[in-house]
Amino acid sequence: MVDYTFIRKDIIKRQTVIEGILELQSPLRIGVGKSGGMDPASIARDTVLKDTGGTPIIPGSSWKGVFRSEGERILRRKNLIVCSGVGKDYCLNNFRKYDDFQRNLTRDIDEAIRIFWNYTCLNCKLFGSMSVIGAVKFLDSKAIEFKLGTRTMIAISRTEGAVARGALVQVEFVEPGSKFTFKIMGNNLPNYAIGYLLTIMKNIHDGFIQIGGHKSRGFGFIRFVNLRFSDKGEKKIGDEDVSVSTQDEIKEEGDKFFEKMKPFMEAFNNAKIPYPVH
Ligand SMILES: [Zn+2]
Repeated sequence: MVDYTFIRKDIIKRQTVIEGILELQSPLRIGVGKSGGMDPASIARDTVLKDTGGTPIIPGSSWKGVFRSEGERILRRKNLIVCSGVGKDYCLNNFRKYDDFQRNLTRDIDEAIRIFWNYTCLNCKLFGSMSVIGAVKFLDSKAIEFKLGTRTMIAISRTEGAVARGALVQVEFVEPGSKFTFKIMGNNLPNYAIGYLLTIMKNIHDGFIQIGGHKSRGFGFIRFVNLRFSDKGEKKIGDEDVSVSTQDEIKEEGDKFFEKMKPFMEAFNNAKIPYPVH
């Protein structure tokens, strides 16, 4: 009997939180889209995403996209099957199990769980799939200290590769040195899944991944100033999980935090992930 706790939503055996503060190492640009760009003579304004109080935010959905795409790269390097989660590229769809799964949700829930376990990748299980929420939730990051800047940029037409006449855009960005909150919460996460999330976070911290727009201009590098890990409940989830001896709470500044969390990242490196079956 396979232990499906990791993907079950009806029981909570473990609750894990990773939260802290991050600092921008370069400008950050998470936009809301253009406004006033219709008149070619005027300069379009391209503002950053803010909450109702005018504070810049990084939405949880942006984090999820960053984690999913970097995770995809990491899992492929481990020769594991993984989907992009973009458009129709979801495991259940790719394995042609979506209808079967959907039908069993109301008829035979155990069979639906078995199908989801066998025919989805780690990304689908962690970050969600068509009609199934993930085991991890990304909260919106809110700026706690920030400065805004603007840069006038020329919009290049992608189709023609030429500079469109008069297409100047005033691009707003959040200045380097600004600080944001960060928080992810997970239920029933195996140690290797925690290690996987931490591996992605460390790659962000080490400057291998940028977030937001204008990456080619060097935007979107961040570092974690400090992080706190808190963990309640069972310390091993599922038959394939790797044991890790650790504390219920670890709070450290960025580099030290990742140093202390190494056993989880090793658990990810050592885990034999048995799904998706093919
Ligand atoms: Zn998948």
